[in-house]
Amino acid sequence: MSTNPRKEIQQKIEEGDLRWLLLKVGELHGHFCPFVALGVKASVIALKRLNAFTEGIDEDTLAIVETNNCFSDGVQMTTGCTFGNNALIFKDVGKTAMTLAFRSGKGIRVSLKAGYPESMTKENPEAQDLFDRFIRRRQKGTPEEMQRLKDVWEELSFRQLEIPDEEQFDVQDVTVSLPGHAPIHPSLICAECGEAFMESRGRLRDGKPICLSCSGDSYFVLEGRGMHIERGTV
Ligand SMILES: [Zn+2]
Ligand SMILES: [Zn+2]
Repeated sequence: MSTNPRKEIQQKIEEGDLRWLLLKVGELHGHFCPFVALGVKASVIALKRLNAFTEGIDEDTLAIVETNNCFSDGVQMTTGCTFGNNALIFKDVGKTAMTLAFRSGKGIRVSLKAGYPESMTKENPEAQDLFDRFIRRRQKGTPEEMQRLKDVWEELSFRQLEIPDEEQFDVQDVTVSLPGHAPIHPSLICAECGEAFMESRGRLRDGKPICLSCSGDSYFVLEGRGMHIERGTV
């Protein structure tokens, strides 16, 4: 017997139950904000237009996200293409945009209209003010102010679901070139730290396998600032 753990999510996508989907994404994302809601909406547009309902196990449908902000969590939960199942590609260009594509390259790109975030907060200057003070400038607010920020931000998040798609997004058919299936590499044991590591990430030192962390060579790190290169300790 095999189960499809995303069955309910797929059903809600087909029904267009955005509210249910946003509540679900909240479990992953930890809060409700406008961009996570926009990630849900963009994904539903792409999934429906491509008629792709992913289970996240076959890697035949991939999502490309162009930002590592809240939007991407909406995309991961809704499309089922995630960091861990190798169906997510991160293109570090800092745009609120996602592409859903089949392995053949046929895809749909959904991008947030330039100027939309400004028009979104123009409707709600309090949200903009609270965001500027407590998130952008990292000022310390009173517990009441922080709660207010959460409430206003949550309201704005659910509000996104009611705004017509065409006011928020540009949608285009695209053809993308995608990598082949993620290879499965054997594990080796690092002669330095004794930990197992993926063969493709190792180095040889005096004929012995050494992990990248121990090798002193550089590797990629993804964090809040985006992708950058870091060096292991020698
Ligand atoms: Zn968020
Ligand atoms: Zn090591």
